Amino acid sequence: MRKTRIIATLGPATGSPEAMEALLVAGVNVFRINCSHARHDWIRRTVPEIRSLARRLGLPVGVLLDIQGPSIRTGDVATPIALSVGDTLAFTTDGNPPSGVISTTVSYPDFPGDVEVGRTLLVDNGSLAMRILSKTATSVLCEALTAGELGSRRHINLPGVRLSLPALTPKDRADVAVGLEMGVDLIAQSFVRDPDDVSALRDLVAGARDPVTLVAKIEHQFAVDHFDDIARTTDAVMVARGDLGIECPYEELPIIQRRIVKHCLRIGRPVIVATEMLESMTENPFPTRAEITDVANAVFEQADAIMLSGETATGRYPVECVRVMDRIACRIERSGGANYHEAAEMGSAREMLVRSAVGLADQLKAAALIVFSRDGRIVRDAAWLRPRHSPIFAFVASASLAGPLSLLRAVRPVVMPSCNDDPAGSVEGALGRLRTAGHLASGDRVVVVLPHPTSNDSEVEAVKMHVIG
Ligand code: PEP
Repeated sequence: MRKTRIIATLGPATGSPEAMEALLVAGVNVFRINCSHARHDWIRRTVPEIRSLARRLGLPVGVLLDIQGPSIRTGDVATPIALSVGDTLAFTTDGNPPSGVISTTVSYPDFPGDVEVGRTLLVDNGSLAMRILSKTATSVLCEALTAGELGSRRHINLPGVRLSLPALTPKDRADVAVGLEMGVDLIAQSFVRDPDDVSALRDLVAGARDPVTLVAKIEHQFAVDHFDDIARTTDAVMVARGDLGIECPYEELPIIQRRIVKHCLRIGRPVIVATEMLESMTENPFPTRAEITDVANAVFEQADAIMLSGETATGRYPVECVRVMDRIACRIERSGGANYHEAAEMGSAREMLVRSAVGLADQLKAAALIVFSRDGRIVRDAAWLRPRHSPIFAFVASASLAGPLSLLRAVRPVVMPSCNDDPAGSVEGALGRLRTAGHLASGDRVVVVLPHPTSNDSEVEAVKMHVIG
């Protein structure tokens, strides 16, 4: 069983139930919905389709809602605008350009206030560079420094500029409300700048019916500067290399990625490596050698998850991308890893007991580490310690507890409604289920972790070993 989780972004290429089924069968663990593009009616239709597919196929899957955050996007254009070097283009906040100038709108009303004449801005992952020539209260006139095409809803980067936008825009609040209504499992927050931005989202989801995991996207120099505080405030982290590679000098990117993954494994935060992992496969059926090595590197670093963006949202070979990731991950996991978790800062009695369970599973080469959990914490501890051989089967009482666990390395959530009533009494049932599903066979050794019957996951009651009869 592959340990590294695969996240696939849904989009026009993969929005149908048939396409999502093909992705799930190929090995996707989490579907990502990108709010920069997804409409609310589409989210309301798609999340229930994902849930019913997962139930029908018996494959656990998480749903991650990625909100836009304090970022700027260009508006919709009927056809892409072709720009040559030296062409001028106006970005307007009210749709009224200076006469005779090609223009598009921007999503941020204070855009002219935050930019300086003479500076360079980058559009669409840096593919278009533009110099700001002049501005009025409602428009910014730019000159193209590179040739290219400007499509709809392209992202604008202003490296080094801290936008006056709040952490959560009205659009983000509306998107989060729909996400919570649909019971998404994880919410990724774009352009987090400091821990207060994470706290703002935490406050917003405080009344949610179901547990939701917050993922801070690190894609800004400001976030890199405050990384330790952000990581300790959030539940999980994404190395969002698309914007990070524009906002920071690109030669820093590999160093930042490694520092983030290392730090997450020190303090126990799940970590995703994202963006352009198989970019060439948007158009081609095979990855480049450099992409194979990039995916392999993230797997070697033992990130929890690797992510596909445009490759599955709009690409021509979405299922092939998942198969390529699966094949690389399975091979690299067999060859060993960086083992950054060896520096894990664990202190509580619960964490120590989980550490002993993982150590036992490693020594026994256990066929499974079976964790019963009331709120997910023991499962997160077990995944943090990166068991060498054993997949982690996480038995929880409800689908809403299972969903967020789909992100964790080596974890396969299993819903067993009765398991919270009597974890110790449920062990036989759990072993039987895993055996029937073909995950266990006669003579296999397994390690079982049980939480205290009355204290959720704050305490571990027992660590046991079983031999399958
Ligand atoms: C990124 O920039 O790497 C990223 C994941 O964010 P988005 O795809 O929303 O631009």
